[in-house]
Amino acid sequence: PTVLKDSVLEVPKVRWTDIAGLDHVRELLQAITVRPFKYPDLDTKFGGPQSRKGVLLYGPPGCAKTLIAQAVATESNQNFLAVKGSELIKMYVGESERAIRDVFRRARAAKPCIIFFDEIDSIGKSREKSQDSGLNVVTTLLNEMDGIEALKEVLIIGATNRPDILDSALIRTGRFDAHIHIGLPNQEARRQIFQIHTRKRPLAGDVDLNILASRTEGSSGADIKGLCSIAVEMAISDYEKSPESQPEIRMCHFERALDKHVPHTVK
Ligand code: ATP
Repeated sequence: PTVLKDSVLEVPKVRWTDIAGLDHVRELLQAITVRPFKYPDLDTKFGGPQSRKGVLLYGPPGCAKTLIAQAVATESNQNFLAVKGSELIKMYVGESERAIRDVFRRARAAKPCIIFFDEIDSIGKSREKSQDSGLNVVTTLLNEMDGIEALKEVLIIGATNRPDILDSALIRTGRFDAHIHIGLPNQEARRQIFQIHTRKRPLAGDVDLNILASRTEGSSGADIKGLCSIAVEMAISDYEKSPESQPEIRMCHFERALDKHVPHTVK
């Protein structure tokens, strides 16, 4: 079988508490994905399972789409099979179709399982706009999705920054029928992201996460994570120069990281 480099089967260890903000997304996903597994008799009481097979997460890069998909798998104790769309499309004609079928086969064998299609736009491009090779890939994906019994034991989560170019057949009911926008974090979420990414680090008393949050409007979670690493590097290099000082990350290190580069993500 065709082996995809990045398609690892695992139960991830990402908890909702690792993800800042996005409470409304958690509740929505909980209802769609976690509840049917945790409380199957609730579905029975309400006349059988809801027919949802796929959830599409869309929005700017670095805003936790992957983390969210992993948290759903962890919290509902399902296997997780991650596939990168760009990886699939690099293959020879015929090979990508085989790889897609193989992914679904592996997921069925490992059920309950979530298939996470990152960059789904690269395989799910509208058939009108793509060349012939794209056509078969989308068709294969549609066929495989149709072959899964709704939310029985394989759930598909797709992620994209370009929902506008997806084939309309993919996003209609019965396939990716729940669409959830994952936007840039607001001030409070940014503060929490700073907190999550510094919680195991020695922070000096002068570090004010509220100020950092207000100075990073327009940044994604990934941007903030990057800023935190720069600040840590600065603190380490200062400490190297004066090892008699406290080994801690101070506000000046964050200030310097911010002066160097205030990241902005294009929406
Ligand atoms: P892409 O579209 O680039 O694949 P993505 O939306 O899937 O991005 P992730 O890979 O989930 O984003 O996020 C990148 C990293 O940024 C995460 O591993 C995490 O460390 C950090 N991050 C992003 N958003 C958050 C958040 N809301 N809370 C905590 N960490 C976050």
